[in-house]
Amino acid sequence: MRIAVIGAGIVGSLIARELVRYDADVHLFEREIDIGWGVTKANSAIIHGGFHEAVGSQRARFCIEGNELYAALTKELDVPFHRCGAYTVALSKEELPALKALFAQGEENGIPGLELHDSATVLAHEPNLNPQVQAGLWSPTVGITEPWTLATAAVENACENGLTLHLSEGVTKIRMRDGRVRGVTTTQGEYPFNAVVNAAGLFADQIAEMVGLSEPILFPRRGEYVLLDKKANGLVNSVIFPTPSKTSKGILVLPTVDGGILLGPTAKDLPREGKDSRETTPDGMEKTINGARRLIPTIDLSIVIKTFAGLRPESPNKEFVVGKSEVQGFFQAAAMRSPGLTAAPAVARFLVHEVMASDLTLAKKPSFQPLRNGLPRVIDLPEEEWDELISKDPRYGRVICQCNRVTEGEIVAAIRRGARSLDGVKFRTRAGFGRCQGGFCTDRILLILVRELGVSPEEITLRGNGSQMMNGMVRQ
Ligand SMILES: Cc1cc2nc3c(=O)[nH]c(=O)nc-3n(C[C@H](O)[C@H](O)[C@H](O)COP(=O)(O)OP(=O)(O)OC[C@H]3O[C@@H](n4cnc5c(N)ncnc54)[C@H](O)[C@@H]3O)c2cc1C
Repeated sequence: MRIAVIGAGIVGSLIARELVRYDADVHLFEREIDIGWGVTKANSAIIHGGFHEAVGSQRARFCIEGNELYAALTKELDVPFHRCGAYTVALSKEELPALKALFAQGEENGIPGLELHDSATVLAHEPNLNPQVQAGLWSPTVGITEPWTLATAAVENACENGLTLHLSEGVTKIRMRDGRVRGVTTTQGEYPFNAVVNAAGLFADQIAEMVGLSEPILFPRRGEYVLLDKKANGLVNSVIFPTPSKTSKGILVLPTVDGGILLGPTAKDLPREGKDSRETTPDGMEKTINGARRLIPTIDLSIVIKTFAGLRPESPNKEFVVGKSEVQGFFQAAAMRSPGLTAAPAVARFLVHEVMASDLTLAKKPSFQPLRNGLPRVIDLPEEEWDELISKDPRYGRVICQCNRVTEGEIVAAIRRGARSLDGVKFRTRAGFGRCQGGFCTDRILLILVRELGVSPEEITLRGNGSQMMNGMVRQ
Protein backbone atom coordinates (compact mmCIF):
# COMPACT_ATOMS: atom_id res chain seq x y z
CA MET A 1 0.00 0.00 0.00
CA ARG A 2 1.49 3.35 -1.08
CA ILE A 3 0.12 6.50 0.55
CA ALA A 4 0.95 10.16 -0.20
CA VAL A 5 0.33 12.94 2.31
CA ILE A 6 0.29 16.45 0.80
CA GLY A 7 1.48 19.20 3.14
CA ALA A 8 3.97 19.10 6.02
CA GLY A 9 2.14 21.47 8.34
CA ILE A 10 1.13 20.33 11.80
CA VAL A 11 -1.78 18.34 10.36
CA GLY A 12 0.06 16.48 7.57
CA SER A 13 3.11 15.85 9.77
CA LEU A 14 1.03 14.22 12.52
CA ILE A 15 -0.99 12.23 9.95
CA ALA A 16 2.27 10.95 8.39
CA ARG A 17 3.47 9.91 11.86
CA GLU A 18 0.25 7.99 12.54
CA LEU A 19 0.42 6.31 9.12
CA VAL A 20 3.93 4.93 9.65
CA ARG A 21 2.53 2.85 12.53
CA TYR A 22 1.12 0.69 9.71
CA ASP A 23 2.75 -1.53 7.14
CA ALA A 24 2.54 1.00 4.30
CA ASP A 25 4.96 2.96 2.11
CA VAL A 26 4.21 6.53 3.22
CA HIS A 27 5.48 9.65 1.42
CA LEU A 28 5.06 13.23 2.66
CA PHE A 29 5.21 16.01 0.03
CA GLU A 30 5.91 19.63 0.99
CA ARG A 31 6.50 22.38 -1.52
CA GLU A 32 8.45 24.60 0.89
CA ILE A 33 12.08 23.76 1.71
CA ASP A 34 11.21 22.99 5.31
CA ILE A 35 8.53 21.60 7.60
CA GLY A 36 5.78 23.67 9.23
CA TRP A 37 6.20 26.82 7.15
CA GLY A 38 2.58 27.34 6.11
CA VAL A 39 -0.19 28.31 8.54
CA THR A 40 1.69 26.36 11.22
CA LYS A 41 4.54 28.90 11.21
CA ALA A 42 2.57 31.99 12.30
CA ASN A 43 -0.25 31.58 14.83
CA SER A 44 -0.91 32.05 18.54
CA ALA A 45 0.47 28.59 19.46
CA ILE A 46 -2.29 28.04 22.02
CA ILE A 47 -3.55 24.59 22.88
CA HIS A 48 -7.13 25.65 23.38
CA GLY A 49 -9.46 24.32 26.07
CA GLY A 50 -12.48 24.02 23.73
CA PHE A 51 -14.89 26.37 25.53
CA HIS A 52 -14.94 28.72 22.50
CA GLU A 53 -16.31 25.99 20.20
CA ALA A 54 -20.01 25.40 19.51
CA VAL A 55 -21.49 22.38 21.28
CA GLY A 56 -21.75 19.37 18.93
CA SER A 57 -19.35 20.79 16.31
CA GLN A 58 -16.45 18.77 14.88
CA ARG A 59 -14.22 21.63 16.01
CA ALA A 60 -15.28 21.16 19.64
CA ARG A 61 -14.83 17.38 19.51
CA PHE A 62 -11.36 17.43 17.93
CA CYS A 63 -10.21 20.43 20.01
CA ILE A 64 -11.10 18.77 23.31
CA GLU A 65 -9.63 15.39 22.29
CA GLY A 66 -6.53 17.09 20.88
CA ASN A 67 -5.97 19.08 24.07
CA GLU A 68 -6.02 15.83 26.05
CA LEU A 69 -3.39 14.26 23.77
CA TYR A 70 -0.89 17.14 23.92
CA ALA A 71 0.93 16.33 27.17
CA ALA A 72 1.82 12.77 26.13
CA LEU A 73 2.55 13.71 22.50
CA THR A 74 4.93 16.56 23.33
CA LYS A 75 6.65 14.34 25.92
CA GLU A 76 7.20 11.55 23.35
CA LEU A 77 8.54 14.02 20.82
CA ASP A 78 10.51 16.18 23.30
CA VAL A 79 8.80 19.45 22.35
CA PRO A 80 8.03 22.37 24.70
CA PHE A 81 4.47 22.48 26.06
CA HIS A 82 3.32 24.46 29.10
CA ARG A 83 -0.16 24.16 30.54
CA CYS A 84 -0.25 27.77 31.71
CA GLY A 85 -4.06 28.05 31.80
CA ALA A 86 -6.14 30.94 30.45
CA TYR A 87 -8.32 33.73 31.72
CA THR A 88 -11.12 35.05 29.55
CA VAL A 89 -12.05 38.37 31.06
CA ALA A 90 -15.06 40.67 31.08
CA LEU A 91 -13.88 44.28 31.29
CA SER A 92 -17.35 45.79 31.65
CA LYS A 93 -20.66 44.75 33.22
CA GLU A 94 -22.12 44.54 29.69
CA GLU A 95 -19.68 41.71 28.86
CA LEU A 96 -20.71 39.57 31.84
CA PRO A 97 -23.65 37.75 30.15
CA ALA A 98 -21.39 36.72 27.23
CA LEU A 99 -18.72 35.49 29.66
CA LYS A 100 -21.30 33.44 31.54
CA ALA A 101 -22.58 32.01 28.24
CA LEU A 102 -19.01 30.97 27.38
CA PHE A 103 -18.70 29.26 30.78
CA ALA A 104 -21.99 27.41 30.15
CA GLN A 105 -20.82 26.36 26.67
CA GLY A 106 -17.53 25.08 28.14
CA GLU A 107 -19.41 23.08 30.79
CA GLU A 108 -21.71 21.60 28.15
CA ASN A 109 -18.62 20.64 26.14
CA GLY A 110 -17.38 18.78 29.24
CA ILE A 111 -14.21 20.82 29.71
CA PRO A 112 -12.62 20.07 33.08
CA GLY A 113 -11.70 22.65 35.70
CA LEU A 114 -13.60 25.70 34.38
CA GLU A 115 -14.30 28.30 37.09
CA LEU A 116 -15.74 31.80 37.14
CA HIS A 117 -13.57 34.07 39.29
CA ASP A 118 -14.34 37.49 40.73
CA SER A 119 -12.13 40.48 39.94
CA ALA A 120 -10.01 40.17 43.12
CA THR A 121 -9.10 36.55 42.34
CA VAL A 122 -8.32 37.37 38.71
CA LEU A 123 -6.11 40.32 39.70
CA ALA A 124 -4.26 38.22 42.30
CA HIS A 125 -3.29 35.80 39.52
CA GLU A 126 -2.74 38.48 36.85
CA PRO A 127 -1.70 41.70 38.63
CA ASN A 128 -1.00 43.62 35.38
CA LEU A 129 -4.53 43.14 34.09
CA ASN A 130 -6.79 46.15 33.52
CA PRO A 131 -8.13 46.98 37.02
CA GLN A 132 -11.59 47.47 35.50
CA VAL A 133 -11.87 43.67 35.13
CA GLN A 134 -15.27 42.48 36.36
CA ALA A 135 -14.77 38.70 36.30
CA GLY A 136 -12.70 36.02 34.61
CA LEU A 137 -13.34 32.53 33.26
CA TRP A 138 -10.40 30.38 34.41
CA SER A 139 -9.55 27.44 32.15
CA PRO A 140 -6.63 25.38 33.53
CA THR A 141 -6.30 22.99 30.56
CA VAL A 142 -5.20 25.70 28.10
CA GLY A 143 -1.51 25.49 27.15
CA ILE A 144 1.15 26.90 24.82
CA THR A 145 3.62 25.12 22.52
CA GLU A 146 5.93 25.68 19.52
CA PRO A 147 3.87 24.52 16.51
CA TRP A 148 6.68 24.36 13.92
CA THR A 149 8.90 22.42 16.34
CA LEU A 150 6.13 19.90 16.92
CA ALA A 151 5.62 19.44 13.16
CA THR A 152 9.38 19.01 12.64
CA ALA A 153 9.62 16.57 15.55
CA ALA A 154 6.71 14.50 14.22
CA VAL A 155 8.37 14.26 10.79
CA GLU A 156 11.78 13.39 12.29
CA ASN A 157 10.16 10.59 14.29
CA ALA A 158 8.10 9.43 11.29
CA CYS A 159 11.26 9.32 9.13
CA GLU A 160 12.90 7.08 11.75
CA ASN A 161 9.89 4.82 11.33
CA GLY A 162 10.11 4.63 7.54
CA LEU A 163 8.52 7.83 6.15
CA THR A 164 9.93 9.20 2.87
CA LEU A 165 10.02 13.01 3.04
CA HIS A 166 9.98 15.09 -0.17
CA LEU A 167 10.79 18.75 0.55
CA SER A 168 10.70 21.51 -2.11
CA GLU A 169 8.37 19.23 -4.08
CA GLY A 170 4.90 20.59 -4.77
CA VAL A 171 2.10 18.30 -5.95
CA THR A 172 0.77 19.63 -9.26
CA LYS A 173 -1.66 16.87 -10.27
CA ILE A 174 -3.43 13.85 -8.82
CA ARG A 175 -3.73 11.06 -11.35
CA MET A 176 -7.04 9.15 -11.43
CA ARG A 177 -8.42 6.13 -13.32
CA ASP A 178 -11.86 4.50 -13.00
CA GLY A 179 -12.89 7.01 -10.32
CA ARG A 180 -10.04 6.27 -7.96
CA VAL A 181 -6.67 7.77 -7.09
CA ARG A 182 -3.68 6.20 -8.91
CA GLY A 183 -0.78 8.55 -8.21
CA VAL A 184 0.57 12.09 -8.05
CA THR A 185 2.60 14.30 -10.34
CA THR A 186 4.93 16.72 -8.60
CA THR A 187 7.40 19.41 -9.60
CA GLN A 188 10.04 16.62 -9.58
CA GLY A 189 8.34 13.59 -11.13
CA GLU A 190 5.50 11.06 -11.13
CA TYR A 191 4.73 8.50 -8.43
CA PRO A 192 2.13 5.74 -8.16
CA PHE A 193 -0.06 5.83 -5.01
CA ASN A 194 -3.14 3.93 -3.83
CA ALA A 195 -4.24 6.75 -1.54
CA VAL A 196 -3.69 10.47 -1.10
CA VAL A 197 -4.30 12.63 1.99
CA ASN A 198 -5.01 16.30 1.44
CA ALA A 199 -3.46 18.28 4.31
CA ALA A 200 -2.42 21.29 2.23
CA GLY A 201 -3.58 24.00 4.65
CA LEU A 202 -4.71 27.19 2.91
CA PHE A 203 -4.26 25.47 -0.46
CA ALA A 204 -6.32 22.36 0.32
CA ASP A 205 -9.07 23.69 -1.98
CA GLN A 206 -6.67 23.56 -4.94
CA ILE A 207 -5.71 19.95 -4.09
CA ALA A 208 -9.40 18.97 -3.79
CA GLU A 209 -10.07 20.54 -7.21
CA MET A 210 -7.40 18.21 -8.68
CA VAL A 211 -9.79 15.27 -8.10
CA GLY A 212 -12.88 17.25 -9.10
CA LEU A 213 -14.14 18.09 -5.59
CA SER A 214 -15.61 21.51 -4.84
CA GLU A 215 -15.16 21.21 -1.02
CA PRO A 216 -13.53 22.84 0.83
CA ILE A 217 -13.78 26.46 -0.32
CA LEU A 218 -11.07 28.43 1.46
CA PHE A 219 -10.30 32.09 1.87
CA PRO A 220 -7.55 33.65 3.98
CA ARG A 221 -8.25 35.57 7.17
CA ARG A 222 -5.16 37.52 8.19
CA GLY A 223 -4.08 37.79 11.81
CA GLU A 224 -1.38 40.33 12.71
CA TYR A 225 0.87 40.05 15.75
CA VAL A 226 3.37 42.01 17.83
CA LEU A 227 6.09 40.14 19.72
CA LEU A 228 7.65 41.66 22.85
CA ASP A 229 11.16 40.95 24.09
CA LYS A 230 11.79 38.58 27.00
CA LYS A 231 12.14 41.70 29.19
CA ALA A 232 8.33 41.51 29.26
CA ASN A 233 8.45 38.02 30.78
CA GLY A 234 5.94 37.82 33.64
CA LEU A 235 3.68 40.53 32.23
CA VAL A 236 1.04 37.80 32.11
CA ASN A 237 1.20 34.33 33.66
CA SER A 238 -1.51 32.73 31.54
CA VAL A 239 -3.21 33.31 28.17
CA ILE A 240 -5.48 36.36 28.47
CA PHE A 241 -8.53 36.37 26.18
CA PRO A 242 -11.07 39.19 26.00
CA THR A 243 -14.74 38.21 25.94
CA PRO A 244 -15.04 36.98 22.32
CA SER A 245 -17.06 38.56 19.52
CA LYS A 246 -19.21 36.57 17.07
CA THR A 247 -16.38 36.42 14.48
CA SER A 248 -13.21 36.01 16.54
CA LYS A 249 -11.67 35.18 19.89
CA GLY A 250 -10.33 38.74 19.89
CA ILE A 251 -6.89 40.24 20.54
CA LEU A 252 -5.01 38.32 23.23
CA VAL A 253 -1.95 38.76 25.40
CA LEU A 254 -0.06 35.54 26.06
CA PRO A 255 3.31 34.14 27.06
CA THR A 256 5.42 32.25 24.51
CA VAL A 257 7.24 29.05 25.51
CA ASP A 258 10.63 30.79 25.33
CA GLY A 259 9.70 33.65 27.65
CA GLY A 260 8.46 36.39 25.28
CA ILE A 261 5.00 37.94 25.19
CA LEU A 262 2.77 37.84 22.11
CA LEU A 263 0.00 40.34 21.31
CA GLY A 264 -2.67 39.63 18.68
CA PRO A 265 -4.09 38.46 16.35
CA THR A 266 -6.36 40.71 14.31
CA ALA A 267 -8.95 39.11 12.00
CA LYS A 268 -9.19 40.56 8.48
CA ASP A 269 -10.89 38.61 5.68
CA LEU A 270 -9.01 38.71 2.38
CA PRO A 271 -10.09 37.66 -1.13
CA ARG A 272 -9.37 34.03 -2.13
CA GLU A 273 -6.41 35.14 -4.24
CA GLY A 274 -4.79 36.80 -1.19
CA LYS A 275 -3.20 33.61 0.14
CA ASP A 276 0.30 35.09 0.14
CA SER A 277 -0.66 38.40 1.83
CA ARG A 278 1.31 37.96 5.04
CA GLU A 279 2.24 41.63 5.38
CA THR A 280 1.52 43.63 8.52
CA THR A 281 -0.39 46.91 8.13
CA PRO A 282 -0.64 50.19 10.09
CA ASP A 283 -4.33 49.46 10.74
CA GLY A 284 -3.54 45.92 11.97
CA MET A 285 -0.79 47.17 14.27
CA GLU A 286 -3.05 49.84 15.74
CA LYS A 287 -5.82 47.30 16.38
CA THR A 288 -3.35 44.83 17.93
CA ILE A 289 -1.81 47.38 20.28
CA ASN A 290 -5.15 48.94 21.29
CA GLY A 291 -6.71 45.52 21.84
CA ALA A 292 -3.77 44.29 23.91
CA ARG A 293 -3.57 47.51 25.96
CA ARG A 294 -7.27 47.20 26.74
CA LEU A 295 -6.32 44.00 28.59
CA ILE A 296 -2.88 45.02 29.91
CA PRO A 297 -2.66 48.84 29.98
CA THR A 298 1.07 48.98 30.88
CA ILE A 299 2.41 47.26 27.72
CA ASP A 300 5.72 48.94 26.84
CA LEU A 301 6.11 49.40 23.09
CA SER A 302 9.83 50.16 23.35
CA ILE A 303 10.43 46.41 23.71
CA VAL A 304 8.64 45.32 20.54
CA ILE A 305 11.09 43.06 18.67
CA LYS A 306 9.01 41.79 15.75
CA THR A 307 5.70 42.12 13.95
CA PHE A 308 4.32 39.39 11.70
CA ALA A 309 1.11 38.00 10.24
CA GLY A 310 -0.45 34.58 9.70
CA LEU A 311 -3.31 33.50 7.43
CA ARG A 312 -6.17 31.34 8.71
CA PRO A 313 -7.75 28.92 6.20
CA GLU A 314 -11.40 29.95 6.61
CA SER A 315 -14.37 28.22 5.00
CA PRO A 316 -17.95 29.54 4.72
CA ASN A 317 -19.39 27.07 7.28
CA LYS A 318 -16.31 27.28 9.58
CA GLU A 319 -16.11 23.47 9.96
CA PHE A 320 -13.13 21.18 9.46
CA VAL A 321 -13.36 18.78 6.49
CA VAL A 322 -11.98 15.50 7.88
CA GLY A 323 -12.54 12.01 6.48
CA LYS A 324 -12.87 10.03 3.27
CA SER A 325 -14.31 11.71 0.19
CA GLU A 326 -16.52 10.54 -2.65
CA VAL A 327 -13.36 9.88 -4.66
CA GLN A 328 -11.93 6.46 -3.78
CA GLY A 329 -8.52 6.70 -2.17
CA PHE A 330 -8.77 10.48 -1.54
CA PHE A 331 -8.89 11.57 2.11
CA GLN A 332 -9.01 15.08 3.55
CA ALA A 333 -7.90 16.90 6.68
CA ALA A 334 -8.71 20.34 5.39
CA ALA A 335 -10.22 23.71 6.32
CA MET A 336 -8.20 23.48 9.51
CA ARG A 337 -8.88 26.95 10.88
CA SER A 338 -8.33 27.68 14.58
CA PRO A 339 -8.25 25.56 16.77
CA GLY A 340 -6.56 23.39 14.14
CA LEU A 341 -3.24 23.26 15.97
CA THR A 342 -4.99 21.95 19.08
CA ALA A 343 -7.15 19.56 17.10
CA ALA A 344 -4.35 18.19 14.87
CA PRO A 345 -3.34 15.17 17.03
CA ALA A 346 -6.97 14.06 17.37
CA VAL A 347 -7.69 14.66 13.68
CA ALA A 348 -4.60 12.60 12.73
CA ARG A 349 -5.64 9.74 15.00
CA PHE A 350 -9.25 9.73 13.81
CA LEU A 351 -8.41 9.95 10.11
CA VAL A 352 -5.70 7.29 10.17
CA HIS A 353 -6.99 4.76 12.70
CA GLU A 354 -10.76 5.08 12.33
CA VAL A 355 -11.12 5.99 8.65
CA MET A 356 -8.07 5.00 6.58
CA ALA A 357 -7.02 1.81 8.41
CA SER A 358 -10.37 0.14 7.74
CA ASP A 359 -10.95 1.61 4.27
CA LEU A 360 -7.49 0.54 3.05
CA THR A 361 -7.17 -2.58 5.28
CA LEU A 362 -3.89 -1.56 6.84
CA ALA A 363 -2.00 -3.83 9.24
CA LYS A 364 -0.18 -2.45 12.32
CA LYS A 365 3.64 -2.63 12.28
CA PRO A 366 5.01 -3.86 15.64
CA SER A 367 8.36 -2.08 15.16
CA PHE A 368 6.99 1.50 15.51
CA GLN A 369 9.20 3.52 17.88
CA PRO A 370 7.44 6.66 19.22
CA LEU A 371 10.30 8.54 20.94
CA ARG A 372 12.40 11.38 19.58
CA ASN A 373 15.11 13.43 21.28
CA GLY A 374 14.95 17.18 20.75
CA LEU A 375 18.00 19.28 19.95
CA PRO A 376 19.97 20.33 23.02
CA ARG A 377 19.16 23.90 24.11
CA VAL A 378 21.99 25.17 26.27
CA ILE A 379 19.92 28.10 27.53
CA ASP A 380 17.65 25.61 29.31
CA LEU A 381 20.48 23.47 30.74
CA PRO A 382 21.99 23.63 34.22
CA GLU A 383 25.63 24.78 34.08
CA GLU A 384 27.06 21.28 34.78
CA GLU A 385 25.16 19.77 31.85
CA TRP A 386 26.31 22.57 29.55
CA ASP A 387 29.93 21.98 30.70
CA GLU A 388 29.51 18.29 29.94
CA LEU A 389 28.31 19.09 26.41
CA ILE A 390 31.30 21.41 25.88
CA SER A 391 33.71 18.72 27.05
CA LYS A 392 32.30 16.37 24.39
CA ASP A 393 32.12 19.03 21.66
CA PRO A 394 33.74 22.47 22.19
CA ARG A 395 31.39 24.02 19.63
CA TYR A 396 28.76 24.02 22.41
CA GLY A 397 30.98 26.58 24.14
CA ARG A 398 30.89 29.09 21.25
CA VAL A 399 27.80 31.29 21.59
CA ILE A 400 26.65 32.55 18.17
CA CYS A 401 23.25 34.09 19.03
CA GLN A 402 23.79 36.23 22.13
CA CYS A 403 20.12 37.15 22.62
CA ASN A 404 18.93 33.56 22.99
CA ARG A 405 22.31 32.05 23.90
CA VAL A 406 22.48 29.61 20.97
CA THR A 407 25.82 27.92 20.38
CA GLU A 408 27.63 26.74 17.25
CA GLY A 409 27.08 23.15 18.46
CA GLU A 410 23.29 23.62 18.39
CA ILE A 411 23.38 25.23 14.94
CA VAL A 412 25.50 22.37 13.53
CA ALA A 413 23.11 19.85 15.11
CA ALA A 414 20.13 21.64 13.51
CA ILE A 415 21.80 21.54 10.09
CA ARG A 416 22.49 17.81 10.53
CA ARG A 417 18.78 17.34 11.29
CA GLY A 418 17.77 19.06 8.04
CA ALA A 419 18.01 22.89 8.35
CA ARG A 420 19.00 24.23 4.93
CA SER A 421 18.33 27.96 5.29
CA LEU A 422 18.65 30.75 7.84
CA ASP A 423 14.99 30.32 8.83
CA GLY A 424 15.57 26.57 9.05
CA VAL A 425 18.25 27.21 11.68
CA LYS A 426 16.23 29.98 13.36
CA PHE A 427 13.07 27.94 13.80
CA ARG A 428 14.97 24.88 15.06
CA THR A 429 17.35 26.65 17.46
CA ARG A 430 15.82 30.14 18.12
CA ALA A 431 19.07 31.73 16.86
CA GLY A 432 17.96 35.07 15.43
CA PHE A 433 14.61 34.93 17.23
CA GLY A 434 15.66 37.28 20.04
CA ARG A 435 16.06 40.98 20.71
CA CYS A 436 18.37 41.79 17.76
CA GLN A 437 16.36 39.58 15.34
CA GLY A 438 19.55 38.27 13.78
CA GLY A 439 21.27 41.66 13.50
CA PHE A 440 24.44 40.34 15.13
CA CYS A 441 24.41 36.63 14.23
CA THR A 442 23.00 36.25 10.70
CA ASP A 443 26.42 36.44 8.98
CA ARG A 444 27.94 33.93 11.41
CA ILE A 445 25.07 31.47 10.94
CA LEU A 446 25.32 31.90 7.18
CA LEU A 447 29.01 30.96 7.27
CA ILE A 448 28.27 27.88 9.41
CA LEU A 449 25.63 26.81 6.84
CA VAL A 450 28.20 27.35 4.04
CA ARG A 451 30.79 25.25 5.86
CA GLU A 452 28.47 22.42 6.91
CA LEU A 453 26.59 22.13 3.62
CA GLY A 454 29.71 22.63 1.43
CA VAL A 455 28.01 25.30 -0.71
CA SER A 456 28.89 28.89 -1.67
CA PRO A 457 27.51 31.86 0.34
CA GLU A 458 25.40 32.88 -2.69
CA GLU A 459 23.49 29.60 -2.38
CA ILE A 460 22.31 30.21 1.19
CA THR A 461 18.74 31.51 1.39
CA LEU A 462 16.60 33.05 4.08
CA ARG A 463 13.72 30.64 3.41
CA GLY A 464 14.17 28.88 0.05
CA ASN A 465 14.47 29.83 -3.58
CA GLY A 466 14.21 33.50 -4.36
CA SER A 467 15.42 34.57 -0.92
CA GLN A 468 19.20 34.41 -1.45
CA MET A 469 21.06 36.49 1.13
CA MET A 470 24.09 37.44 -0.98
CA ASN A 471 24.67 37.97 -4.68
CA GLY A 472 28.47 37.97 -4.75
CA MET A 473 31.60 39.07 -2.94
CA VAL A 474 32.47 42.76 -2.69
CA ARG A 475 36.16 41.83 -2.31
CA GLN A 476 38.00 38.50 -2.64
C1 LIG B 1 -3.53 33.97 13.08
C2 LIG B 1 -3.76 32.54 13.46
C3 LIG B 1 -3.87 32.16 14.79
C4 LIG B 1 -4.11 30.83 15.13
N1 LIG B 1 -4.06 30.47 16.43
C5 LIG B 1 -4.25 29.17 16.77
C6 LIG B 1 -4.12 28.76 18.12
O1 LIG B 1 -3.72 29.53 18.98
N2 LIG B 1 -4.43 27.47 18.43
C7 LIG B 1 -4.86 26.59 17.49
O2 LIG B 1 -5.18 25.47 17.85
N3 LIG B 1 -4.91 26.93 16.18
C8 LIG B 1 -4.59 28.19 15.80
N4 LIG B 1 -4.61 28.56 14.50
C9 LIG B 1 -4.92 27.54 13.49
C10 LIG B 1 -3.71 26.67 13.20
O3 LIG B 1 -2.54 27.44 13.04
C11 LIG B 1 -3.99 25.88 11.92
O4 LIG B 1 -5.22 25.20 12.08
C12 LIG B 1 -2.92 24.87 11.59
O5 LIG B 1 -1.63 25.42 11.65
C13 LIG B 1 -3.18 24.33 10.19
O6 LIG B 1 -2.17 23.41 9.89
P1 LIG B 1 -2.16 22.67 8.49
O7 LIG B 1 -1.15 21.62 8.59
O8 LIG B 1 -3.55 22.31 8.11
O9 LIG B 1 -1.74 23.80 7.45
P2 LIG B 1 -0.30 24.32 7.04
O10 LIG B 1 0.56 24.55 8.21
O11 LIG B 1 -0.51 25.48 6.13
O12 LIG B 1 0.32 23.11 6.24
C14 LIG B 1 -0.04 22.84 4.91
C15 LIG B 1 1.22 22.65 4.10
O13 LIG B 1 0.87 22.24 2.79
C16 LIG B 1 1.84 22.75 1.90
N5 LIG B 1 1.28 22.71 0.55
C17 LIG B 1 0.28 23.46 0.04
N6 LIG B 1 0.05 23.11 -1.24
C18 LIG B 1 0.93 22.13 -1.53
C19 LIG B 1 1.19 21.36 -2.70
N7 LIG B 1 0.50 21.55 -3.84
N8 LIG B 1 2.17 20.42 -2.67
C20 LIG B 1 2.89 20.22 -1.53
N9 LIG B 1 2.70 20.93 -0.40
C21 LIG B 1 1.71 21.86 -0.41
C22 LIG B 1 2.08 24.15 2.43
O14 LIG B 1 3.32 24.66 1.97
C23 LIG B 1 2.02 23.93 3.94
O15 LIG B 1 3.30 23.76 4.51
C24 LIG B 1 -4.31 29.86 14.11
C25 LIG B 1 -4.15 30.25 12.77
C26 LIG B 1 -3.83 31.55 12.45
C27 LIG B 1 -3.53 31.89 11.05
